[in-house]
Amino acid sequence: MRVVDQRPNQSTADRVELASIYADYGDTAVLALDFRRAAEQYRKAIRQVEGRSPVWAIVYRMNEADALANYGRYKPDDEATKSAIALYQSVVKDSAGGKNPVAWASAQNNLGNALQVLGERTNNAQLAADSVAAFEAALTAWSHERFPLEWANVQNSLASALRNIGENESGADNLTKSVAAQGMEVLTSAGVESLKADAKGVAAKIKSKDGKVEERGYSHAIVAVGIAPNTENIGIDKLGVKTTKGHIDTDPMCRTNVPGIWAIGDVTAPPWLAHKASHEGIIAAEAIAQVLGNKDVHPHAMDVSNIPGCTYCRPQVASVGLTEAKAKEAGHEVRVGRFPFPGNGKAIAMGETEGFVKTVFDAKTGELLGAHMIGAEVTELIQGFTVGKTAELVETDFINTVYPHPTLSEMMHESVLAAYGRVIHI
Ligand SMILES: Cc1cc2nc3c(=O)[nH]c(=O)nc-3n(C[C@H](O)[C@H](O)[C@H](O)COP(=O)(O)OP(=O)(O)OC[C@H]3O[C@@H](n4cnc5c(N)ncnc54)[C@H](O)[C@@H]3O)c2cc1C
Repeated sequence: MRVVDQRPNQSTADRVELASIYADYGDTAVLALDFRRAAEQYRKAIRQVEGRSPVWAIVYRMNEADALANYGRYKPDDEATKSAIALYQSVVKDSAGGKNPVAWASAQNNLGNALQVLGERTNNAQLAADSVAAFEAALTAWSHERFPLEWANVQNSLASALRNIGENESGADNLTKSVAAQGMEVLTSAGVESLKADAKGVAAKIKSKDGKVEERGYSHAIVAVGIAPNTENIGIDKLGVKTTKGHIDTDPMCRTNVPGIWAIGDVTAPPWLAHKASHEGIIAAEAIAQVLGNKDVHPHAMDVSNIPGCTYCRPQVASVGLTEAKAKEAGHEVRVGRFPFPGNGKAIAMGETEGFVKTVFDAKTGELLGAHMIGAEVTELIQGFTVGKTAELVETDFINTVYPHPTLSEMMHESVLAAYGRVIHI
């Protein structure tokens, strides 16, 4: 065991040695994911070397900032994130002007991440813009040729920060970031004006949201545009069945406005999904049976907010209920929990560390308002929250449920715990 010597009047060499012992404790705390304790140890290390060894002072300040940033991100704790931001800013200042270019670039990148986290959490557009500026600054230091990994990492962060501006985090938003990081370009609010195929490929005229039309060449084009109801010429207009943009209006029991006429699936209102269509088929059949006098059926009303949506891409996306933004728009005061895939043992063992589980609760009642996931097998996991939401479970029901180990489902537990400041494995 190394003895920590704190006598005054030590030489700089002794102080540096002592600082490294504190930093070792800090590193151990990081491995145990005890970021608060790690930050304290790095702070002690800083005190030993401040004013004596500027290089080590910067190293330990970065360590303390990283520990606080992690603590702030996963606890979540805005004050810790703010402290991390202040430390990164001080490193940027003290290492500027070519004094310590590596520390300067790393601090800019990590500053960008911390600003982005706080910006998203507090819905603060200025912080989001500041994070973009920090990533852009970091990019000026990492050249593509000399530091390809760092460069790619910051590019990825920058892409994510740019896409986050003005967006509320949902699985779909994060998928956009993820596919961008895989090298795919996503153009939103853009329209295809024309497609022209020849032996070489397809020329596409694309109109962007600002009205500019640009021609681009691609190897293939896959067309998957929208959905149109197939309700014309089947006589419903003559019967007076009400429609909205061609889709038949129904109530939660699948009844139209005309007694004796029922409608289910894609001809009715969204979401246009197979499981919604087949579930409505059962509701309608049972409701009709009940009208015909069958007492053994007990049809229930469809609640569209309990219909899960899944996208089978890589990484997968799954959600049920309201996003954080929609919940706030609807007047809910919310508690939000988030747990990242890298904090889950099964995800690490599977080599699937991209993604997160996010849960949105009503702060007053504890009702689960929505769950959003991105990552491996989330289309299988979402059903846990769908059952909970359908059964109108509240936060304590999820918290008191035992989740098997090691499974990806443990992230669902952790996400709920995170919403209530009780996350464990972070
Ligand atoms: C490429 C693709 C991928 C999809 N992937 C998924 C997915 O992964 N998960 C998911 O949940 N959903 C998915 N969907 C959506 C899903 O397929 C639909 O929501 C679902 O099939 C709707 O069921 P439905 O019975 O209402 O309509 P349909 O399945 O379209 O059935 C309507 C039937 O009515 C027939 N019909 C139409 N007009 C008439 C008429 N005048 N007289 C008699 N018969 C008529 C049609 O031929 C058809 O057989 C996907 C859809 C597409 C196109």
